[in-house]
Amino acid sequence: MTASQSTTHRIYIGGQWVDSVSGRTYQITNPAHMDSVLGTVQAAVVEDAEKAVEAAHDALASWAATPAPQRGSILYRAFELMRDQQEEFARLITLEEGKPLPDARGEVKRSLNITEYAAGEGRRMFGYTTPSELSDTVAYTVRRPLGVVAIITPWNFPLAIPAWKIAPALVCGNTLVFKPASSTPLSAVKLVKLFEEAGLPPGVLNLVTGPGASVGDCLVAHPKVKGVSFTGSTEIGSKLYGQAARTLKKVQCEMGGKNAVIILADADMDHAMGGVVQAAFGSTGQRCTATSRVIVEESAYETFVEELIERTSKLTVGDGMESADVGPTASEAQFQKIMEYIGIGTEEGAKLVYGGKALSGPEYEGGYYIQPTIFIDVDPRMRIAQEEIFGPVLTVFKAKDLDEAMEIANNVQFGLSSSIYTRDLPKAFRYVEEVEAGMVHINSPTLGGEVHLPFGGTKASGVGAREQGTEAVNFFSEVVTVYVDYAGHRAQAKFI
Ligand code: NAP
Repeated sequence: MTASQSTTHRIYIGGQWVDSVSGRTYQITNPAHMDSVLGTVQAAVVEDAEKAVEAAHDALASWAATPAPQRGSILYRAFELMRDQQEEFARLITLEEGKPLPDARGEVKRSLNITEYAAGEGRRMFGYTTPSELSDTVAYTVRRPLGVVAIITPWNFPLAIPAWKIAPALVCGNTLVFKPASSTPLSAVKLVKLFEEAGLPPGVLNLVTGPGASVGDCLVAHPKVKGVSFTGSTEIGSKLYGQAARTLKKVQCEMGGKNAVIILADADMDHAMGGVVQAAFGSTGQRCTATSRVIVEESAYETFVEELIERTSKLTVGDGMESADVGPTASEAQFQKIMEYIGIGTEEGAKLVYGGKALSGPEYEGGYYIQPTIFIDVDPRMRIAQEEIFGPVLTVFKAKDLDEAMEIANNVQFGLSSSIYTRDLPKAFRYVEEVEAGMVHINSPTLGGEVHLPFGGTKASGVGAREQGTEAVNFFSEVVTVYVDYAGHRAQAKFI
């Protein structure tokens, strides 16, 4: 057993690494090798979450009063520390989540970018001034923190999603309780240690590793928590949104997706194919922005499908540490769910033309491996066409023209990311106008985004302010409007 395997990680409350009051722990295993234990973490309970909220509450006044540029300089320090440890972070992500190392390195890069960007926001915490309707009066706005904010994150980006919530929340002056996904808490522990080393005062960032149903639920209901930033499934997000509303919290939920790509017959097929294969099967299809539906114009359908199968068959599946294109699914629960959907697709009558099986054999032993899978001739009403599978399963649809393709693309409850491949500019812009998604790509995959631009979805994919870019500051702060009557002429006011 290596040192890291034998390490028991604590939770972080009020600047102290402590055991959970439950006295219980659980083990984190590698999805590529189920018998490989990566570490042990605390099974925190409601009492731990309550202590963490109190610690965050106690630290609030001082952190909120710290000038934003000073808060930003701690983030710059965190950025530098992360940059120094980027390979360690990437390897840890691959070990605990399963994604191939190059994908994990991309995730670390994204985390670096957002931390650096948010640090700069410390000097851009802009309000605005505007002429007052009264003489001798100055009218302007300032930003204030929300207060204690709960950060609740999923397992599929165990570093980047926490980073893109925590960094802007901190620079805005909030204090935080961070609850990462139960299956990927190790990157979270490392991230919090990094912020501690960067000089964050005690209580500003607190970490509890424990079940969403109890610890997460407590944070969402707690009266001292004023904001919740959640990323996860639509099922949990919509429940949480309703619950948080009862105590009038400010909430943002980034949730599931069923992202579609439209391929028109005039597209650069080589380019389109590359984008589809990367976005459907990269990171084992476990990205919220992964492509799960491809809608191909009729006249290009046959050749597209043929080439798609050909390219997909070249992908290697295996341990993400060993240069595989597609890693294992992240957990047994994920594995079961994806296999169930493959069964559903077959039963529904979609044509399975590639993959569809769990991989066995010595090189796959002990891992949750599934072949990249392609269903064609999919009917938009099928469950595999409507529900989020969140794995390496691609559904392919035939459409007679852009109108029909658009109808299929929009005919789902989700609206996260979307893409079209075409050389026809008017059609591309019509698509931008009509597609129901928070992020729209022309001639590029449905994936990702840049940290200085808003990120998020519409419909059942997102509610509340977008993440990242200046939108993050809008979410993590309150605007206060100030009127200064500098000549004492208040009597002239005719306010309603
Ligand atoms: P999930 O099951 O909804 O869990 C997300 C987080 O919520 C976890 O930390 C979970 O804790 C916690 N949680 C569970 N029940 C809770 C409750 N009652 N109250 C408060 N918190 C609770 O999602 P997941 O399986 O981790 O992640 C996959 C999903 O995330 C997919 O649907 C994917 O599309 C979505 N996602 C969306 C985006 C986006 O930006 N739109 C990005 C990435 C992922 P436990 O782990 O302890 O259950």
